[in-house]
Amino acid sequence: MRLVLLGAPGSGKGTQATRLKDYLQVPHISTGDLLRAEVAAGSPLGLEAKAIMARGDLVSDAILLGMLEERLSRADTAGGFILDGYPRNLAQASALGALLARIGQPMDCAVQLDVDNELLVERIAGRAKAEGRADDNPESVRKRLAIYAQQTAPVVDYYRQQGKLTVVDGVGTLDDVFKRIIEAIAPVREVG
Ligand code: ADP
Repeated sequence: MRLVLLGAPGSGKGTQATRLKDYLQVPHISTGDLLRAEVAAGSPLGLEAKAIMARGDLVSDAILLGMLEERLSRADTAGGFILDGYPRNLAQASALGALLARIGQPMDCAVQLDVDNELLVERIAGRAKAEGRADDNPESVRKRLAIYAQQTAPVVDYYRQQGKLTVVDGVGTLDDVFKRIIEAIAPVREVG
């Protein structure tokens, strides 16, 4: 199954994607993780992305598309994948649509994790303490939430218009939310 997880920073996408990958037995592709690996490796791309990410801005569409094309060309994605952190704007959504159409593997479904803004801010503050991510400072968090509302929310509508969207309540325990996701994608799994 080819699935994209949508949700604001702090919505729990990454955590749920990790669980889903075990459940669905497909790779979890997180563009944030791919970028952080580049930063950690000190590659030219990582050097370019580092400051942009720390500010909470989006890294360029061209860089992301190149990274994603490379990742999706690997053999382990033949049986599907879970995409987390991409697409983040409409240009990325249509680039992804074109890429998947070209390889004859359209997206099966999009799951949006719905969590209200106040709780997002609270969760990221908790994560900042626990993980010390460079972009979990208050200014960067504000910017990421604003970019989500302005640029990523339209991506939710993009998948809704294609009839591929299911919205899942992202508030509750990790188990609760995971169960809801499994229930939400069950009809798609049966068809696929
Ligand atoms: P979060 O969703 O909590 O903000 P991510 O790990 O998904 O965290 O992303 C961290 C940062 O990586 C983003 O703020 C952005 O700078 C960069 N990034 C990740 N995915 C993309 C993307 N699809 N397009 C542009 N930048 C991205």
